[in-house]
Amino acid sequence: MQIKGRNIIGFETYSEGLVGVVAQNPATGEKIGPLFYRATVGELNLAVEKAVQAFAIYRKKSGEEKAAFLDEIATQIEALGETLLDRYVAETALPAGRAAGERGRTCGQLRLFAQLLRDGNWVNARIDTALPDRQPLPRPDLRSMERPLGPVGVFGASNFPLAFSVAGGDTASALAAGCPVIFKAHPAHPGTSELVGMAIQKAAEITNMPDGVFSMLHDDSIEIGQALVKHPAIKAVGFTGSFRGGKSLFDAANNRSEPIPVYAEMGSTNPVFMLPKSLAAQAEKLADGYVNSLTMGVGQFCTNPGLLMIQKNDEFVQNVKAKIEAAVGGTMLTPNMKNAFDSGIEKLQKSTTTVGLGKTTEAKNTATPTVLRVDYQEFENNHELAEEVFGPSSVIVEAKSREEILTAARNLSGNLTATVYGSEEELIEYADLIEILEQKVGRLLINGFPTGVEVCHAMVHGGPFPATTDSRSTSVGTNAITRFTRPVCFQDMPNALLPAELKHDNPLGILRMVNGKFER
Ligand code: NAP
Repeated sequence: MQIKGRNIIGFETYSEGLVGVVAQNPATGEKIGPLFYRATVGELNLAVEKAVQAFAIYRKKSGEEKAAFLDEIATQIEALGETLLDRYVAETALPAGRAAGERGRTCGQLRLFAQLLRDGNWVNARIDTALPDRQPLPRPDLRSMERPLGPVGVFGASNFPLAFSVAGGDTASALAAGCPVIFKAHPAHPGTSELVGMAIQKAAEITNMPDGVFSMLHDDSIEIGQALVKHPAIKAVGFTGSFRGGKSLFDAANNRSEPIPVYAEMGSTNPVFMLPKSLAAQAEKLADGYVNSLTMGVGQFCTNPGLLMIQKNDEFVQNVKAKIEAAVGGTMLTPNMKNAFDSGIEKLQKSTTTVGLGKTTEAKNTATPTVLRVDYQEFENNHELAEEVFGPSSVIVEAKSREEILTAARNLSGNLTATVYGSEEELIEYADLIEILEQKVGRLLINGFPTGVEVCHAMVHGGPFPATTDSRSTSVGTNAITRFTRPVCFQDMPNALLPAELKHDNPLGILRMVNGKFER
């Protein structure tokens, strides 16, 4: 498939704007054609208009029909074969194995949502049948379930060009919920975005979805993104990226005359706590795991372990020093990210000591793996040390006592994850730490590293502010579907007009709560 640099608006492509977005290989600086047309506000309005019309049809599609659409998107993405993988590698300088792995994750994610839709139980059907003879007042027949919100705006992340991008988690969950999607492509991988966008367009045509169920717009300024969030017909927003970007979109959405939910996943330092006895017993193994986790994917994961809390252990720190000095830095996704990484490290170095620096390479935009250390008191006095520096770096905070560890945990702001390393006996000794951490994060791990987010039903990839703008949901896993739905209750609705999920004879055979008890 040829990449044309066009904006995808429903079943058509447009190129009314100025040619603006330029793709480049971050390892070589080489520009990669074609040039991509910036979307105009007129094109955005057309995409939203089509999405509104599509919603009237798409919201009524059955679970089976939407599942067929999601499955077909996965099939069309796979059919792009090496063209997609080569473009991904050229635009990101990430290895081919990562590209293939992320494609597998993306298609698996789409198929998991398809399975959820076929299963049908996700709608949270609740029925309280009428009690006409109840005294002093009769009870009406009440039936509720999750229904789609309407057209959704989604912003692709730079660091997962497939799994958190055009056909990534937010798009999959919104389409599964019954919401048309208008996607703002990330300018760091416009060609990858266009290939996937065309795959979705083709899948929509093949499975007889309405024109406008999906659109994708290119831009390398914030103009189209802001206009998308402010458009009165947009009913929710999904975002993964910087704190500044996410908070700005959240504020824009709240300042609308009709505020809408913004699910922004932003920064996180993912603190790891290694309990003293376990650390002493496994100093080398834990140093190895820690350095592997913080350098994985050039540290460009939102679950990177940016903070490590320990009670002072020099043997462990010496092991970390040896491992990080042996680590080789990789190319970051964009020159801006590399500059932000360097200035973040420079700032941290003013109030920390360097444990070790990894090796760099000849390639452009290579980040130097970095581990720093700071004592607990300095950490408590300087809250900037707990802020994310996106890339292969981490700060070891050295405490002197259990109480200092607990206070550090209490003072943490919201994060996506926290991890505790310890034997069962030591974990029980630190049950109060675990209780504190549960209130700070979306996912609490024991004896593992936070990088690696399983796509499944129980996953929570979210957390309290400032990790996200809404701690009540996840951006990974099937539970993400409820970001884009709201409960609607039908009172005394004739059976013929009820959605199939709520009809009297339960034609879909789904699990429903009837008069307080689950039944099929
Ligand atoms: P970003 O700057 O937040 O941009 C993400 C997307 O949002 C882009 O499409 C961008 O459009 C758009 N955007 C940003 N600010 C906006 C605003 N005020 N109004 C409207 N649209 C806006 O993130 P990034 O480019 O991926 O990386 C920059 C930094 O974000 C990294 O250095 C890192 O610190 C952080 N980051 C965090 C995560 C995470 O998982 N938490 C992931 C990736 C990056 P334009 O590019 O066209 O302006």
